[in-house]
Amino acid sequence: MMSDKLPKLVTDLPGPKARKIIDDDSRWVSPSYTRSYPFVAARGRGALVEDVDQNRFLDFNAGIAVCSTGHCHPDVVRAVQDQAAELIHMSGTDFYYGLMPEFAKAIGNLVPYGNDWRCYFGNSGAEAVEAAMKLARYHTGRQHYIAFHGAFHGRTFGSLSLTNSKPVQRKGFSPLVPGVTHVPFPNPYRDGGGCGERAIAYIRDVVFKTTLDPAEVAAFVVETVQGEGGYIVPPDDFLPRLQALAREHGILMVADEVQSGSGRTGRLFAFEHFDYQPDIITLAKGVASGMPLGVMMAQAGIMEWEPGAHASTFGGNPVCLAAATATLNLLQSGYLENCRQMGELLRTGALELMERHPVIGDVRGLGLMIGVEFVRDRTTKETAADLRDAVVDECFKRGLLVLGAGPSTIRLSPPLLVDQEQCRFALQTIDEAVAAASA
Ligand code: PLP
Repeated sequence: MMSDKLPKLVTDLPGPKARKIIDDDSRWVSPSYTRSYPFVAARGRGALVEDVDQNRFLDFNAGIAVCSTGHCHPDVVRAVQDQAAELIHMSGTDFYYGLMPEFAKAIGNLVPYGNDWRCYFGNSGAEAVEAAMKLARYHTGRQHYIAFHGAFHGRTFGSLSLTNSKPVQRKGFSPLVPGVTHVPFPNPYRDGGGCGERAIAYIRDVVFKTTLDPAEVAAFVVETVQGEGGYIVPPDDFLPRLQALAREHGILMVADEVQSGSGRTGRLFAFEHFDYQPDIITLAKGVASGMPLGVMMAQAGIMEWEPGAHASTFGGNPVCLAAATATLNLLQSGYLENCRQMGELLRTGALELMERHPVIGDVRGLGLMIGVEFVRDRTTKETAADLRDAVVDECFKRGLLVLGAGPSTIRLSPPLLVDQEQCRFALQTIDEAVAAASA
């Protein structure tokens, strides 16, 4: 099974087994999940996933940028199986085991600046962000955070207070953690040239002059590339300027790389694309190829909280750390290079689609974190959510799994091992899907 590299559909969608599971799911499972189309997964290998009716799909979501090394990479599977047979759990909160310092040392040594990095381990992106928020307050003794419009940092109360990408994510849950001010994130497509400097000027000349004394701000929390908000790459000068402003006022820079880190942009850390050195880094999603792990990193001078200040029973579980170690080895053995090459192929191909389809307003991205934005009109740039949703649906009908991001964008975030044939198939499918959706 699943020997071929491309999709193969053998039933109507959803097929009979899928329909039964979807019925059960809607009866028994929380209705808060958002399922864009009726895909019911059974197994995955590499960039392919098969549903319960043996339809084969090409996965350009990678479990939302999680299955970085592909589905069930043999090295990851072996690491998980071996570790599960040896020691599943011991609670790193209370006891030692070698995988914790081993992984922390391996990833700490890969940060291209500073030394003496430390890792805190949780189970998810939200937990990594919570830990970053707590550490920033603890270290600075300050209460406030500045986060960005369009940001997604998670759904626990602390991380949700930073999240600002869709009202439905916050509606009904207030009061959230106080002390968060949201400011515009520069969007080169929508805000034009100079938007990085304008975003900084807004903080410096408006927020700091009218609303918030910078001496009370613990941290800027910022996604290096905005993920759920629409796969938005900030202009080159934005993060360096934000860091300069932060340094001027003793504010920490938290780089949320839960989605953009772990090789997704063709570099291990997305901030390596910019002249920028964050103080605190958060990773999750792709870091352990699908096993639940959140990592919050800072140098020793910042991560100096006392025993008992923060911890998690399962965080940094041995099986997850074994998967993360296998993932890190794979990323260093050619996956980053493949990510850069396939990213270029996809981006160039998507730009060609843009020439043929006036409803594509923008193509942007780094590595295999690519956004294709749909608009009603290229001049007004009016968003086209319905059209985007229709494109996602048409792709599904043709065996390609993609998802939306932001109001009007589809994201292309396949596993980092995706190959040329699969990228060409995806581009051709998107071409057909856009034609069908806009007809
Ligand atoms: N931060 C970013 C940038 C994310 O994209 C996400 C999830 O999409 C999170 C944090 C939250 O991660 P999790 O869903 O693992 O809690």
